[in-house]
Amino acid sequence: MKSSKSTENFKGTDEYHQYLKQLLSLSQMLNSSLNVEEVLKMAMDQVVDLLRAERGFIMLFNEKGELELKAYKNVDPQAILQFRDISRTIIGTSTKEGKNVLSVNAQSDPRFKDLESVLMSGMRSVMCVPLKVKARVIGVIYLDNRIEEGMFRETHLEMLSAFGNQSAVAIENARLYENLIRSYDERFRLTQELHQQEKIRLASEEANRLKSEFVSIVSHELRSPLTVIKTYTSALHRDVSLGKNVISEEQKLDIYTTIDREVDRLMNLINKLLDVSRIDAGKPMELNLRDCDLKGLLKIILKLQKTSKFYLDSHIIKDNIPEDLPNIVCDQEKLSQILSNLMENALKYSPGGGDINVTVAYDSEWVVFSIRDKGLGIPKEHLGKLFKKYERFEDEDRKTIPGTGLGLYLIKHLVDLHGGKIWVDTEQGKGSEFKFSLPRRTQQ
Ligand code: ADP
Repeated sequence: MKSSKSTENFKGTDEYHQYLKQLLSLSQMLNSSLNVEEVLKMAMDQVVDLLRAERGFIMLFNEKGELELKAYKNVDPQAILQFRDISRTIIGTSTKEGKNVLSVNAQSDPRFKDLESVLMSGMRSVMCVPLKVKARVIGVIYLDNRIEEGMFRETHLEMLSAFGNQSAVAIENARLYENLIRSYDERFRLTQELHQQEKIRLASEEANRLKSEFVSIVSHELRSPLTVIKTYTSALHRDVSLGKNVISEEQKLDIYTTIDREVDRLMNLINKLLDVSRIDAGKPMELNLRDCDLKGLLKIILKLQKTSKFYLDSHIIKDNIPEDLPNIVCDQEKLSQILSNLMENALKYSPGGGDINVTVAYDSEWVVFSIRDKGLGIPKEHLGKLFKKYERFEDEDRKTIPGTGLGLYLIKHLVDLHGGKIWVDTEQGKGSEFKFSLPRRTQQ
């Protein structure tokens, strides 16, 4: 392209139309992506080639109002950044005044010839357009040629300006998009944080609820046996100290049996509390595994149920234990705790009496125990919480039935420790069948 061609003549040429076509495709490219920095780099390459510049770059104002280099071709970025005082350079003039700059030869141009940047880099043909969004300058595009003067004319400046306008719109759109994403991310993060805080608040409320419920249940559970013990021992004491001797031997036997049972209940409760606090502290319970005479153990436990506080004459305990039930290796004390607790629950939650069936079955790998009652049963909606710590259900029927909500939680823990499983089949108003399995180990 020769600098002598007049602008009017040039506008009519095929070359000019070719330029416009390429410019249009560059604009489309800019607007087709929201990653504008990437696209600007590609566009810069093409604009430099298209307008036959030697070098070129695009700078944008950052949030602090400083120009930052965003895309460049054939330019040493350090050399540009070296002109820190941008206001005294050609781009400084263009961005400050918001005007296009065209110089046929910057070295002889009275506006620029004394500028340090011009002297240092020996530029000749120079073209520079500010990037504007609604009259606000957001950056600048600069092209130059240090070898030939008169490379750029008004038509080129118009084309660069058109490209600049398109770039400015694309950059602004990308920034808006980025802000939108950022504010969306921020909102999302805040919502997540709120959810998290809400979860922590609900969990701590639930923990507090359980704690106070637990304290009131345990105090009640401790107080009732103590009250019985206190009443009976006081009566015995009065009888002896006042020399009345009105309590018969038969009554005394009754009193001692009751005191004995209540002391057992207290010790039972304290042991449960100690077990739970040990589990809470992450200290594993140890199994004392040894050969256990299952048949003998079941016989004792079933017999003991008749002395239970919850045993009624209308309770009929039936057992179905195979004659050839083999011994298994287990922790006898813990198995006895599991069976006694399930038996006590069966009696406790059948306040109207009825059959309690105890069945044991076995195969080569497992022994399965079943304790079935015809009592209150458990409502379906509570099944998810069964076997969890402190979970009790207090409907009208069981309001007066004492308990701590620790039994099933500990039973499950003990069955798990043995490598077994526990489950329940229950229907409200019809009764429950608790089953658990233990593996048949051989003595090590
Ligand atoms: P608790 O000391 O309250 O009896 P458990 O952990 O043994 O504690 O039982 C938890 C809850 O499960 C009880 O409050 C009771 O409502 C229900 N439950 C346990 N066993 C039975 C059963 N055999 N029949 C009906 N409900 C039962």
